Amino acid sequence: MKAKFSFEIFPPKKDMPVEVIYKTLDGLTDLNPDFISVTCGAGGSSSNASERMIEVAAAIKEKYQKKSVAHIPAINLDKGDVEKILSQLELRGIDEILALRGDKVPGVEPKNIFPHAVDLISFIREKTDKKFKIYAACYPEGHTESTDFDADINFLKAKVDAGVDGLITQLFFDNDHFYYFIEKIRALGINVPVEAGIMPVTKKKQIERMVNICGASLPVKFRKILDRYGDNADALQEAGIVYALNQIVDLLAHGVDGIHLYVMNNVYVARRISEVVKSLA
Ligand code: FAD
Repeated sequence: MKAKFSFEIFPPKKDMPVEVIYKTLDGLTDLNPDFISVTCGAGGSSSNASERMIEVAAAIKEKYQKKSVAHIPAINLDKGDVEKILSQLELRGIDEILALRGDKVPGVEPKNIFPHAVDLISFIREKTDKKFKIYAACYPEGHTESTDFDADINFLKAKVDAGVDGLITQLFFDNDHFYYFIEKIRALGINVPVEAGIMPVTKKKQIERMVNICGASLPVKFRKILDRYGDNADALQEAGIVYALNQIVDLLAHGVDGIHLYVMNNVYVARRISEVVKSLA
């Protein structure tokens, strides 16, 4: 089966009009990905994060006629908030969701109605049956809060059994982590498709921040690139694209179910990578 190819973007900052994303979407939708997923801040209903996410996801559907996937991090949501988001999504014709727990937001006490993503997934299935296609997150190197890899993938199994149709991985820079992870979860009976999350690195600061947040390990050959080209923005971008392409070619050769590109709203990078991916199809 042909591997899926998707992008992940984030909505404009809250002091910017949502329409500023159109320029990015003009470029990304031209590349014809299988879907574009839209991130959402975990601040809960007191922030307007889900409204902005929905506006961007709806634009992908309505203005560009492409498939969008709405991220829902539920750590600061209650049942009423989630029901409201689901009905807004339905109204706008968005029927694919990435169901997430989300991370604690400084200064916001978690509502604890959905302590884990599995609780959100069960709730969505209970309320809407099969109306939505549900994706969930997974972590080839283990989740940062988890000290036990086996426990982490057992929780993943429970999450998938609650009604997940597909998984998208956290970013990683060493494909061997991904292959080991796939072997382990397949042995556990997790059979849904898994898209590999790949982030082409274009800025040194960005990667240092991401690695801090998500705990991805940096292979020596990747660190060498950062050391050598970290202070030269153009060179680092080129090296980042080539590194990501090497990962992708290897993943495709291994028969990966899909590639989910964390494009960080960078159309140029998405285009460079798409050109190669298309030529391999
Ligand atoms: P869970 O599946 O709940 O897992 C979190 C931790 O709890 C893990 O350590 C797991 O082992 C453990 N656990 C799971 N179930 C149980 C259980 N039943 N009992 C005890 N422990 C359990 N965050 C955002 O805020 N917005 C986004 O848009 C966003 N997009 C993302 C997209 C992708 C592809 C990925 C990989 C992550 C994204 N995140 C986003 C980050 C995500 O919210 C964090 O990684 C968060 O810490 C975990 O979310 P989760 O849904 O994987 O949680």
